[in-house]
Amino acid sequence: MTHAFRLLSNGQLLDLPATLPVLDPATEEEIARVPECTAELLDATVQAARAAFPAWRDMPFAQRAESLVALAARIKAHADELALLITREQGRPLPMAKAEVMTAVHWLRGTAQLALPQSERTDVQGVRWATRRVPLGVVAAIAPWNFPLTLAAMKLGPALLAGNTLILKPSPFTPLATLRLGELAADLFPAGVLNVLAGGDALGPMLTAHPGIAKVGFTGSTATGRRVMASAAPTLKHLTLELGGNDAAIVLPDADPVKTARKLFMGAFLNSGQVCIAAKRIYVHESIYDGFAAAFAEAAKAAKMGPGTREGVMIGPVQNRPQYERVKALIEDCRASGQRFLVGGDVPAGPGYFIAPTVVDNPPEDSRIVQEEPFGPVVPLLRYSSVDEAVQRANASEYGLGASVWSSDPDAARAVAARLETGTVWINSVHLLDPQVPFAGRKQSGLGVENGVEGLLEYTAVQTFVG
Ligand code: NAD
Repeated sequence: MTHAFRLLSNGQLLDLPATLPVLDPATEEEIARVPECTAELLDATVQAARAAFPAWRDMPFAQRAESLVALAARIKAHADELALLITREQGRPLPMAKAEVMTAVHWLRGTAQLALPQSERTDVQGVRWATRRVPLGVVAAIAPWNFPLTLAAMKLGPALLAGNTLILKPSPFTPLATLRLGELAADLFPAGVLNVLAGGDALGPMLTAHPGIAKVGFTGSTATGRRVMASAAPTLKHLTLELGGNDAAIVLPDADPVKTARKLFMGAFLNSGQVCIAAKRIYVHESIYDGFAAAFAEAAKAAKMGPGTREGVMIGPVQNRPQYERVKALIEDCRASGQRFLVGGDVPAGPGYFIAPTVVDNPPEDSRIVQEEPFGPVVPLLRYSSVDEAVQRANASEYGLGASVWSSDPDAARAVAARLETGTVWINSVHLLDPQVPFAGRKQSGLGVENGVEGLLEYTAVQTFVG
């Protein structure tokens, strides 16, 4: 790649030596190097973001909303270029990378339509009580590698709209589209309001511990989320943590096995299974299990695997080597414990982190493939006898991100959904999110809320005026 990627700090695009290598997961070849933020540059950026805060905070809300809409237009105008960057660094098929870019556009526009609530009352003694929401200061937004641009937009939009200034940090595995976003946005915001800093493993902890930062918006694994929380404790930062998931799908006996299997195949294998809200445990009633399993395996066999730049590909590579090794180890564990693969189970020699879609036939409930979040193209199908049993098994997870219920009777499905201990439950679908609707994980899947007014409020504090 010939483009020289630059960090955005205090309104300046910095031409620094590019030291951090970025690999194409389809070939394992280095495709670019990007600059790494040092502790000194982080300090200077935090200082600039703090200096920019009062003027941005005092700007009319509607004007900040307009800036988000302008950023959305700028991203849309460069959608093809950004999509190609996502495909090259993340691995996903190009049409799906384009869909991610357009989702980021949709998110910024949808967020710009939100409003902050205010309340006022005068009590019987004639005292006036007025409460408003105020921004916090400098926000650090930390994103993972599975949807670099959308998950950045989910933090950037509400943080800036509420009147905070922002430092956005992509994953070291996928910094390219995010740094390009910073370049495209540089002239749309006053200096210091939006900063984009890439770096290696040291940068995240530097952000979460920095005393000049008031809030961390984080998406990533549960293990890292715990580290973020511990690191933020001494400076008592506000936190939103969107963490791992092990979503159950419950297919009720009256669901159409073939149609449901086709839809759930996409729900499990989109982005090669690297989706926090992918269907990761699929519970199918014993009366339709065989028909469902056959249709699911057929869809898996038909899915074309290859580099995301090749036409017609559905399954791209796993994004990075550590994740590839984790998923391979889970498949090996299935093999070693004598489980049956309906399809897959083989890992091509490489180069590239490719794993063929793998479907495990009714493994024991306590096996690793059921208990752990695979975050890759492998999914267990699980046979159940009664709905009570399926609900109990679905809820037995330490995670509580999402779940789905599948039935030809949506009311019956909603009744089952009401018994599930997750932040979101989809009926006859998965993956649907909306910038105006709150999304939150329960149990070990997170803390706080993203999206909707509730998500916007997470970037504010309460201020009450009395009298
Ligand atoms: P990760 O936790 O390894 O990394 C996420 C981000 O945190 C990266 O930018 C990384 O550089 C940074 N980081 C790493 N260590 C840090 C530390 N000690 N302090 C601060 N920052 C640190 O996660 P990942 O492997 O990039 O992403 C996959 C995980 O993310 C999966 O578990 C998935 O379920 C989860 N995820 C959750 C959601 C959600 O909305 N709940 C969405 C997408 C992904």
